[in-house]
Amino acid sequence: MNEAVQTSSQFTPRVFSGIQPSGNLHLGNYLGALKRFVDMQSDDTETLYCMVDMHAITVWQDPDDLRHATRELCAGFIAAGLDPTKSILFNQSQVAEHAQLAWIFNCVARMGWMQRMTQWKDKAGKNQQNASLGLLAYPALMAADILVYHATHVPVGEDQKQHLELTRDIAIKFNHDYGVEHFPITEPVIEGAATRVMSLRDGSKKMSKSDPSDASRINMTDDADTIAKKIRKAKTDPDALPSEAKGLEERPEARNLVNIYAALADTTVDAVLADVGGKQFSEFKPILSELAVEKLAPISTEMARLMQEKDEIDRILASGASRAREIAAPILKKTYEIVGMVGA
Ligand code: ATP
Ligand code: MG
Repeated sequence: MNEAVQTSSQFTPRVFSGIQPSGNLHLGNYLGALKRFVDMQSDDTETLYCMVDMHAITVWQDPDDLRHATRELCAGFIAAGLDPTKSILFNQSQVAEHAQLAWIFNCVARMGWMQRMTQWKDKAGKNQQNASLGLLAYPALMAADILVYHATHVPVGEDQKQHLELTRDIAIKFNHDYGVEHFPITEPVIEGAATRVMSLRDGSKKMSKSDPSDASRINMTDDADTIAKKIRKAKTDPDALPSEAKGLEERPEARNLVNIYAALADTTVDAVLADVGGKQFSEFKPILSELAVEKLAPISTEMARLMQEKDEIDRILASGASRAREIAAPILKKTYEIVGMVGA
């Protein structure tokens, strides 16, 4: 059994996670999420990975762009190493049980819980009155995404930790209110050297799909020259690299680049610094670019190839949705029975 998913609870270990098809799949998504999804794929644990299109539309998405981004994200999942015969790959809107359970969770979660979410505050900004209701309710849908499969483990980046705590709170309150042990208390799996990849332009902001500056992120579809140029221009400080992780504490931009290197090389920050400590950024940046291109180029080439086979992608998504529905439907039915919905 995959060690990361061992559990002592009554629930069979099951892994779920999702990424929004909002375009610009980037290095942070890859290191914080996608690469971990691949690591968690195993023969004896069910893994479900979802393109969460219903989350994407909480902010405006052009319909053609959304269609394209969903297929491109599916291509990215497969190109990064997810095997559609081992993992269930599908898009959220095609399994109606997510939305059905989300409604029940809208009635379990409290307004105060939603208004406290950092992501709500960040994304709604100063103009909360004009944000969509979906953007506020998003974490209840996310809890439903996870709990409609009784998922026990959710690999995510650091920024999703608060939403997973809310998922646990919703499960606890539902179980308590109805006097059942129906939903598992899900474990976040936040691992690796780059659980929070920062913007290349600003070491205090996370790398994001929605950042208007393309130079802030490395997109999975960037070519080698673009990757090298973005790393060359990445914000740094004038000092040489330290030889121990402690020396990066007050240097967010330097720490970010070293974290990225360690995660791409599947090693630790200390091991990287043992090699590159004392080097200037003018020397380290080309080494980092070379590694990034070596790891990302095969993925972007394969993504481009898969995007030529749209029918095959659509077939994989349809088959994934029907397999997902088989797991979700009985769990939703049981939930309806618990809640007292006649006919369930
Ligand atoms: P958006 O800006 O539209 O919210 P995003 O870049 O945050 O996009 P999501 O689809 O919201 O991407 O997140 C998908 C997964 O990628 C989540 O598990 C999230 O924690 C992870 N992730 C997102 N950004 C980073 C990052 N900078 N570093 C590490 N993991 C990240
Ligand atoms: Mg996000």
